[in-house]
Amino acid sequence: MRKHIVAGNWKMNNGLIQTESLIAELKTKQKTSDAEVMIAPSFTNLWHAFESTRQHDIEVVAQNMHFSEKGAYTGEVSAGMLKSIGIKTVILGHSERRAYFNETDESLAKKVDTALAHDMRVIFCFGEELSDRKAGNEEAVVESQIKNALFHLEADAFKHIVLAYEPVWAIGTGETASPEQAQDMHAFIRKTLESKYGHTVADDMTILYGGSVKPNNAKEIFSKPDVDGGLIGGASLKADDFYAIVNAF
Ligand code: PEP
Repeated sequence: MRKHIVAGNWKMNNGLIQTESLIAELKTKQKTSDAEVMIAPSFTNLWHAFESTRQHDIEVVAQNMHFSEKGAYTGEVSAGMLKSIGIKTVILGHSERRAYFNETDESLAKKVDTALAHDMRVIFCFGEELSDRKAGNEEAVVESQIKNALFHLEADAFKHIVLAYEPVWAIGTGETASPEQAQDMHAFIRKTLESKYGHTVADDMTILYGGSVKPNNAKEIFSKPDVDGGLIGGASLKADDFYAIVNAF
């Protein structure tokens, strides 16, 4: 079923003390919308964040994982490790992972398979670069990212996937896709899914928008019929801003 979700990607921000105080502040906020709330702290703070949100309406999710079950992969974290501390959702394919850590459609397809094999939910990120949009190639790029990483899956697997369209040119830049640009791309994504998996899979898919969503633009972006929520970077580090976005529905 399609849901409203607002997920905060903390990236490489917040040590233990800051994690504790931000979570304490988040817990004081009133949720007035039907959005599911998620936060993605760094690996070192996942367990603490998980424990301290246990009785609360906030899901703690991971920012990444490796595709292997275990082994000689120094510095990496597996799906099993995440599951062992209660983490049920993982963000995969963020543009920063693609750009700085050489993640490819092929490695992401493997990560998606591993996450699903562990009964995890995947927030799968993708989006075009500014040069792609300037050349009018944004739909072709997005289509190939989705097809290459996800179209080997059976239709049923999509019940465990949330898509996050994040145009790279809008991430952390203060430049947001217009609500119309977001709506057009989300409708295109749904059409792409429908062409392979049919109407129900496409219609049920939760598709988030990410890229400089702030309290002052969230309401308009979320008002678009194919936008089901947001993946939030910078604004998720401030409790007031984050909950203003959560409550923008
Ligand atoms: C992100 O990193 O996924 C993101 C959308 O960042 P920001 O909101 O800061 O643009």
